[in-house]
Amino acid sequence: VLRVVLILLCVPLLNACLYVELTGSVSGAEVRVTELRSGKQIGGVYTSTTLADEQQKYGALEWNSFGPTLKLLLLGRTELPVEQFENDKLYLVTASGGVDMDWNDDGVMDDVGTPIDGELYGVYTGSQLKKKGVRLNILTDGIYRLVKGELGALNNTQLRQRLDELASETVGDLNKDGKSSYADAISWSQLNANFPYPGDAYYKLSSEYGVAINLDDDVMEDISANLIQRADWRPADPDSAFAEFIIGCLNPVLKIDLCPFGLLPVIGEGNNSPAVADIMPRVVVTHDWMRDRFEQLLYRMPDDILLLLRSVTAIVIGDDIRPSYYDPSSAAINLDPQSLWVTKEEFETISKEADYRSDFGGDMNFSDRWRYVKDNDYAFGQVDGNGNSSLESATLDLAALLFHELAHAADFLPPSKLNSLAPDDTPVDLTHQLRSDILSSNHPLEAVELFGVAAVLFDGVQPSAQQKAYTGADIGQHFAADKAVDLYAYRSQYEDLAMTFEEAMMQLHFDVQRDVGFTSVPGAAIADPQCDDYIVGWGVRSRVSEPQIEDRLLLIVANLLPERNYGAKVAAFPAALQMVSGKDWCESLGLSADAEGLQRVPLSRGTGSNANLRPPRVLH
Ligand SMILES: [Zn+2]
Repeated sequence: VLRVVLILLCVPLLNACLYVELTGSVSGAEVRVTELRSGKQIGGVYTSTTLADEQQKYGALEWNSFGPTLKLLLLGRTELPVEQFENDKLYLVTASGGVDMDWNDDGVMDDVGTPIDGELYGVYTGSQLKKKGVRLNILTDGIYRLVKGELGALNNTQLRQRLDELASETVGDLNKDGKSSYADAISWSQLNANFPYPGDAYYKLSSEYGVAINLDDDVMEDISANLIQRADWRPADPDSAFAEFIIGCLNPVLKIDLCPFGLLPVIGEGNNSPAVADIMPRVVVTHDWMRDRFEQLLYRMPDDILLLLRSVTAIVIGDDIRPSYYDPSSAAINLDPQSLWVTKEEFETISKEADYRSDFGGDMNFSDRWRYVKDNDYAFGQVDGNGNSSLESATLDLAALLFHELAHAADFLPPSKLNSLAPDDTPVDLTHQLRSDILSSNHPLEAVELFGVAAVLFDGVQPSAQQKAYTGADIGQHFAADKAVDLYAYRSQYEDLAMTFEEAMMQLHFDVQRDVGFTSVPGAAIADPQCDDYIVGWGVRSRVSEPQIEDRLLLIVANLLPERNYGAKVAAFPAALQMVSGKDWCESLGLSADAEGLQRVPLSRGTGSNANLRPPRVLH
């Protein structure tokens, strides 16, 4: 349907009042205004206009001269008590009920409106509500539902920044002030063909439908997150056979949203050795550079990565994905671009938000540290004086991330099951035994203390007095006696499998070792702790080489990569090296297995500060 109309031409006809819109304009909705902070109601209850109201206002002759789009734009007008609004104060406008006058979204008024059971929201300043053509729409609604839970923590300035930030992904620069912001979202209309909703049509539909049938608040919050925060997701290859529906499949909220394998199959279905060209049609990104960089890096990955990608339906790389994760409901991996940027320009497009888990464990008396090392130096993560990384660094960083997330994928959907998936089944319908079930029943972890500690560090559980008292050496004692490669393994059987696999594959393919250590916590007076502020209580390099890990590792590899036989390579892994208790985390970068066993070797370059290193990639 062509909607050739410029909204700017219409604006002179619009009054200083609020227009309510869902799919189309909403007539007969009850509209209330409250002060956002106090909840105090301003004025009474107002009703958005109907067709009869507008015909009366303009007169039949003039009304009939209007085109279908303009007619729709004029409906749903609501006169508000503008004289009572203070310019800088924030108000919440709520519209309840009414009928949608263009439910089928064809740009022409429906003969009979479609009743709305739910409420639509919008946040505005007083001065915004005094402007012409301000609208209450799915964008203001979705954005309000997302920020609702944060209101108490944000002052007005912060809140307005947040509104701008959320709006900027969903709308263009309607008001031509040089940027996309919340000011554009409040004048946006679905009827404006020049500024269509940029996100997936599926998210828009589910949001409209959710309001119309009045879904639960928490469901609507998830739907709003899709509508607003995923509006900048796009298929890396817009011409692929999956482009039309792949994004809608990736963030299911309700069971009905799940995509069956018949629609979105795993990459490995009927394809035992996928090539890069088979992967790229499954990639979804927020920025073009992510597509280009990911494709370039895929060519540098070991073939095992391509084999592991058989188990996924899609790969998402998004500017605000943090931490990376595997989603068992869509069988997709979602990657934090922190692990694949190379240039400073690329880095600047990525979220700077901290991982939500970074505040956990603040009451503990030890710090859980890790890093990848090659030749007694950081294996990746260095940034040069111009703020650039390197292709070599990104290759290793992404490889570690992919080995981890793809271990989750192959745990849930192992290669042996990929050719027997029923087309009507979705990823949540599968009932086969997970590979990590086999691992945990054959070789269970046993350090009970560490399960509790992992719950504190990674899930935000409040620590007990005993847990708070553990030193790095205490943790190391429990850890050393067991069979995990990282404390994160104690979070779940899935992480246990993924951590073991990730470390082993990095050793096997890149000759890169992983350090894990439990150190002191830098004093509160140290604002920006560096590696020399962490004193090692216990630490080891190449934990995966320890003999008690080997059976577990070979079982994992046999299940995730059945065509490989890495027994000889694993047997030849370099011996694990113990760190020296009492040395700091910088000093522990240099380890060697010479006659003394544990002496520090000269470092290849200064490592007194790790300020130029990126923070460790989060594990998820
Ligand atoms: Zn994980």
